[in-house]
Amino acid sequence: MEHAYEVIVIGGGPVGMMLAGELALAGIKVCVVERLKETTPFSRALTVHPRTLEILDMRGVKSKLMNKGRPLPRGHFAELDTPLNFSVLDSTSNYTLFLPQSETEKVLEEWALGLGAEIRREVEALSVHQDEDGVDVQLAGPDGETALRALYVVGTDGAGSLVRKQAGISFEGTDATFTAILGDAVLAELPSKSVVSRISEKGLVRVMPINEHLYRVLIIDPERSHVSKNEPLTVEEFRASLIRTAGSDFGLTEARWLSRFGNATRQAGRYRNNRLFLAGDAAHIHFPAGGQGMNVGLQEAMNLGWKLAGAIKGWAPDWMLDSYHTERFPWNTALLRNTEVQTLLLDAAPPIMEMRSMLSKLLSIPEANYQISAQIAAIDVHYAPDAEAPPHPLNGKRSKDIALRLKDEQRVSMYQLLHKGTFLLLQLNCNEQSEQNREEYRNLQVVSASLDVTGDDWNDVHSALIRPDGHIAWAISRSNSNPRQTIKEGVARWCGNVTE
Ligand SMILES: Cc1cc2nc3c(=O)[nH]c(=O)nc-3n(C[C@H](O)[C@H](O)[C@H](O)COP(=O)(O)OP(=O)(O)OC[C@H]3O[C@@H](n4cnc5c(N)ncnc54)[C@H](O)[C@@H]3O)c2cc1C
Repeated sequence: MEHAYEVIVIGGGPVGMMLAGELALAGIKVCVVERLKETTPFSRALTVHPRTLEILDMRGVKSKLMNKGRPLPRGHFAELDTPLNFSVLDSTSNYTLFLPQSETEKVLEEWALGLGAEIRREVEALSVHQDEDGVDVQLAGPDGETALRALYVVGTDGAGSLVRKQAGISFEGTDATFTAILGDAVLAELPSKSVVSRISEKGLVRVMPINEHLYRVLIIDPERSHVSKNEPLTVEEFRASLIRTAGSDFGLTEARWLSRFGNATRQAGRYRNNRLFLAGDAAHIHFPAGGQGMNVGLQEAMNLGWKLAGAIKGWAPDWMLDSYHTERFPWNTALLRNTEVQTLLLDAAPPIMEMRSMLSKLLSIPEANYQISAQIAAIDVHYAPDAEAPPHPLNGKRSKDIALRLKDEQRVSMYQLLHKGTFLLLQLNCNEQSEQNREEYRNLQVVSASLDVTGDDWNDVHSALIRPDGHIAWAISRSNSNPRQTIKEGVARWCGNVTE
């Protein structure tokens, strides 16, 4: 069978749509198959965190979300009394964006479609089978069963991932020890925009406004926390749990979405099996403490997209494609652990309450607050520096957005220069220019500029090769004895030598 697509993405949730956009941007023929007819109106995630806003800014998509959401400077860790203060983060996105997941998904879907990705809805993947040259996918849709073939398949098909199972990839971790209750409800007696956060021996309740009329209610009710997440939640049970944990049903008149979720915590043993990849909930699940799951999945899609495109175009060596797993796996292990820590803290036993009080005091110390905020915001993300590169403290790090002044005095931000999804060779204040790179490498933009703001760790940089996901591949200091040659080596190593 001919390869109908270069990549088939199975699962059109937020992560699948983001990945499809990244691949289409890189000129890859990509198709998303999604069993739902349309985006589900029930939004699990309500927040888009700083690092996700940064990566979306690198593609010009952030502004589309900002138009729909509400920026909030605060987050939380385990519902402690001291909030996380994102506004101190060293980022142009130093806030979280309050925006229902359904809206985020729609924006990403439109973006992917606009770039040429194909999206087949009401189509379910039934099986995937890989061989040396490609992957066969069996599908069921409105017109019956069909088969498609692609060079690669990515499973962004959520926690129960078919791709993960058929790839024979383990999903190690622990089952749920409790379930919590979620209700999106109209609470007529709560003053507009109220927030309720209470933890006691009667359980935990958090109520926050979604819009003028609707509240998101999360409850851990010890009397109901043994119930399986698959057992439907009735309005009567929801009301009873609300009264037990909060002391009132707040004039509950309507429940639009009722569901349960648990604290099962698992991670795929590897994110790749030859031509099959996993991303998002297909690769990791955890209790949704701190609102991180979707965010991390979108960041993974950004890490994988350009590498997979590079492998298909022929310029990315296998070590680069494998680095998707090696780079992301440890960060997601840390994510799983931080959600487990938060879950342990959601308990009203006296020693835990004492621990909560101690941690809350510690969080009022700015350095402590910065560290935890950076973790939840994923601003602390960095990867191992390339061992082949001459050492530089920036190598492997995430680059914050920096203000630049081009030779014609035009001002531009670094993230703007990443909109095309290519590598960026930034030549700072240097007269030498690698004009030849411009012709040699189609996946590289060469820009000569000066820093519009000085006084930070960029001051000694002669040139820097920035990856399409905004991490620094090779930064070269001004003291380098042969910068021209060093840049050449870095570009050849990262951008390959295939001109398409
Ligand atoms: C109560 C709650 C609150 C949360 N809050 C937040 C938050 O504030 N911030 C945050 O970042 N995260 C949050 N999360 C987590 C977040 O919702 C998930 O991490 C996110 O949805 C994962 O996205 P995904 O694209 O990987 O998977 P999913 O959203 O699960 O999408 C998978 C898609 O694949 C499709 N699919 C599955 N199998 C097939 C198949 N065989 N064929 C075709 N299609 C298939 C499904 O229909 C689905 O559309 C929360 C989760 C819960 C439960």
